[in-house]
This record gives sequence, C-alpha cells and structure tokens, in this order.
Amino acid sequence: MRNRRGREHVARAKPNQSITISGVSVAPGQRAVIDLEVAQLYTHTPLSIPIEVINGAKEGPVLLVNAAIHGDELNGVEAVRQLLGRIDESRLKGTVVAVPVVNVFGLIHKSRYLPDRRDLNRCFPGSERGSIAGRLAYQFFNQVVKHCNYVIDLHTGAIHRSNLPQIRANLSNETTSEIAHAFGTPIIIDAVLRDGSLRAIAEEHSIPVITYEGGEALRFDPIPIAAAVEGVMRVMRLLGMLRKTRKKSPITPVIARSTSWVRAEQNGILRSQVTLGDRVDKGQVLAFISDPLGRSEVEVKAPREGIVIGIQTLPLVNEGDAIVHIAFFYAENRLVQETVETYIDEVMEQAGEELVMSSMLG
Ligand SMILES: [Zn+2]
Repeated sequence: MRNRRGREHVARAKPNQSITISGVSVAPGQRAVIDLEVAQLYTHTPLSIPIEVINGAKEGPVLLVNAAIHGDELNGVEAVRQLLGRIDESRLKGTVVAVPVVNVFGLIHKSRYLPDRRDLNRCFPGSERGSIAGRLAYQFFNQVVKHCNYVIDLHTGAIHRSNLPQIRANLSNETTSEIAHAFGTPIIIDAVLRDGSLRAIAEEHSIPVITYEGGEALRFDPIPIAAAVEGVMRVMRLLGMLRKTRKKSPITPVIARSTSWVRAEQNGILRSQVTLGDRVDKGQVLAFISDPLGRSEVEVKAPREGIVIGIQTLPLVNEGDAIVHIAFFYAENRLVQETVETYIDEVMEQAGEELVMSSMLG
C-alpha cells in the first residue's frame, strides 16, 4: 500500500521526507523543476510537461494543482504561476506538485484537444501503448497523480463561453465535499463522475479531486485567476499545509440543485441582457436575437428563476447554440445572488493589482 500522508499527521509537524516524482527525488525544504517527457514531435524534439515540486520542510499531505488538461484553458496556467510565488517551502507542511500545463500539445495548438482529436479528460487512466492522448493520460496519472493525496484541477469555460467561478465535485464523497466547500466559490455543482475523466479515475484510487471552472478559454481573466489562487490557498489551510488565518471567508458556498443551458431559438446576432452572477426571474428576457438590420427579433427567456453561471460571449449564434447557463437552488435566489456579489467584491479587492495592470493593457 502506498504511504498516505494524511491530515492526521499534520498536527505533530514532523520533519518531512523526500518525495520522488517522475524519478526525481526532492528533499524536504527544497523546490525542483521536473520535465516529464511524454512524447516526441515529428522532428524528434522531446515534448515534456513542466512540473514544479515544492517539498515543504514539515510533514503533511501531497497536493496536486494542475491546469490546462484542456489545452486552451489558460486561466489556471496563470493561477499556478501566481501560486508558486506565494508558497514558502521553509514554512510549508507537506508538498505541492504544480503542473500548469498538462495538455502541452493542446496549448501549443491553442486547442482543447490533442493531435489525435481526443479530449484528454475522457482518456484516463490511459494506456502505455495507446494513441497520443491515452499515453499522455497514462504518464500523467502514473508518474504524477498517483503520488498525490488530493487534486485541484483548474479549468475554464469553452471558447466564447465564460463561467462564473465555480467548483464541480462529487459531494457524496465527504472529503471531496469538505475541500469543495473550503475552496470557497459562491456556487458548488454536485457533478456526476464522467467516465475517463481525471476526477473519476483518481477517485477510484481514493484521491479526492475538485474541479474549478472560471472565465473563458484563450483569455486571462483577472477575477477567475485571483479566485483560483485564493481557493487553492484556502484548501491548503484546511489541509493544514499553511497556517490558518484569522480572516474568515465572507461567504458560505451554496450547492446548486441542478443547472440548465438556455439555447438560441434562431440564427442571428445576439444581444445579451444578463451577465455572470445575475439573478433572473422566470420569463425574464435573457437576450435578443435578430438579423443584422434588427428585424425578425426573438426574445430568449429564462425557463425558471435562477442565477447565471455561464454565458456565451460571442454575439453570433446558430439555432440550438447554448447561450446562457443557469443554476437552480433550493436556497432563496436573492441570498445566492448576494453571496455571489460579496464574493466578487472580495476577489476584486484581492485581484486589485492585476486588475489595474490589465485595464492599463486593455
Ligand atoms: Zn476544461
């Protein structure tokens, strides 16, 4: 059996041990950069996944933080970079394994997929002799994931679709649920485990995984990035890896009972009337779709009262396109909306510097 270094050992804060990832041993209180070679390009140039291991001076759990399993989902890449700058290995209890880009092929091509057109998050546990996605999944799972006790998997919305910061997790697993709540996004979606996903296969190995979603593919969004960094640090405090702060989270996450995409009823130009985090009433107009001259306009209405957690950002739609993602709650929607607003204010305060920088650039 693998030696699981769980939370129960943290209180004693013994000196840490070395950890070996992909054949590289990292001593306590040290950081190391590891290149996990996963394939070669046509030119025989090796292609590898960049990994940074921060092995704390004191004993504690091993936390994997990974991003870009879908190669075009970039907010997590920046969140991991910021996180690396905020962890002090001399004070850390346990180990952080940081993998900013899992799908290195996808990132190079600015694509969600791999060259064999497979979705990496449907290919776990992978196969040593499979096609390229299967091999990458196999190497990442066996060389990295298996050595970790907990996983935070950072994602964004698709191209032209933006998500309100949210956590998706299997809440029937008590530990997973605890981590999901600690991450502290205003909304948690109790999501079934999908075959072939990192979440599903890691749970089979008793490694709890939460999936974070925030912002849009191929963009850096300061708010979802800051929310991801803060969320990971909150989980690290829960796990005893960082010292607890006195400052309490200003919100209590709310679990969505279900979610539903509202689709375009005709082709045309979309004028959205709502934004992420808005509360919408049943029958409220979410968007107008018309031709370019403004004729044959139709209204897109909310089917029920709920909170907007995802939106299409491209104003060009085909009939059937998913344009607004709404979450439904048992809780009072007004309270959920207040929770979202308080949360966004808090994140904007944390993201202050980056927000100023991005507005200067924009
Ligand atoms: Zn994704």
